[in-house]
Amino acid sequence: MSAQILDGKATAAEIRADIKTQVEALVAAGKRQPGLAVVLVGDNAASQVYVRNKRAACAEVGFFSELHQLPPDTPAAELLALIDDLNGREAIDGILVQLPLPAHIDEEQVIERILPTKDVDGFHPYNVGRLTLRMPLLRPCTPKGVMTLLARTGRNLEGLDALIIGQSNIVGRPMALELLAARCTISVCHSRTRDLPGKIINADLVVAAVGRPHFVQGDWIKEGAIVIDVGINRTAAGSLVGDVDFAAVAERASWITPVPGGVGPMTIASLLENTLQAARLHVAG
Ligand code: NAP
Repeated sequence: MSAQILDGKATAAEIRADIKTQVEALVAAGKRQPGLAVVLVGDNAASQVYVRNKRAACAEVGFFSELHQLPPDTPAAELLALIDDLNGREAIDGILVQLPLPAHIDEEQVIERILPTKDVDGFHPYNVGRLTLRMPLLRPCTPKGVMTLLARTGRNLEGLDALIIGQSNIVGRPMALELLAARCTISVCHSRTRDLPGKIINADLVVAAVGRPHFVQGDWIKEGAIVIDVGINRTAAGSLVGDVDFAAVAERASWITPVPGGVGPMTIASLLENTLQAARLHVAG
């Protein structure tokens, strides 16, 4: 079998075009444009690229966006005060604090300070709790983007054996909640999992979120499985590769996401969807 490609780049472009149309309709109806505040603390090079891409996407769809760039030694109290200010501003529907934060700042405290209806990353315990209880509001962007891509396969996910490699708060855990809500039978694996290949070979759907280049091998994959590669790893030569050995896995999978051009663009598309959703919540009062 040679896998079909789940094209995140094209799907994300369709989503952006749809959002742009919705924003034009909002503005035509006399409503204000949705607004996103992006907060970047420090000078992490990868974070700067992510922030630039997110703001470019905002501009493309007609959102207002503003960047708050703070020095690496910013005291936590100053960051929290900025979030309080953004929480109170009517023009701001979404607040995105780019992670990771410098070590002296408690990320959880910062995330919890964001108003849940402005938590467009979907990381606040309120939003994660709602996802857990199958009453989602703002959903974590990367797993949400994966669910949008999975819908494009046309496959019924109910009853599939889904296996997630990685249990982080931003990818692995909410991914498990999404797939459980879709009525998959889920396994969540991590660095202490025993016989990982022996588990993966039985999975109908594999989501790799490990952060190790080409970690998932072709002969680990069940014939016909769907394989989603969340990983973004930079090689010594400077190119981006995923967590999956793409060429070998594509020989056995039915569907596969490429890196780049798979989950990455979908994460940004989900952020835009969340910001528009938040704006509708705020405008509706
Ligand atoms: P993370 O917080 O470092 O989590 C990595 C997970 O992989 C952990 O749960 C870890 O297990 C597990 N793991 C590590 N080595 C393993 C092994 N040998 N066998 C099995 N599991 C192992 O990373 P993350 O933030 O979830 O990100 C994962 C990857 O996705 C990274 O490459 C990141 O850049 C990428 N990413 C992409 C997007 C996107 O938009 N495409 C968004 C977010 C992240 P333990 O918990 O036991 O340590």
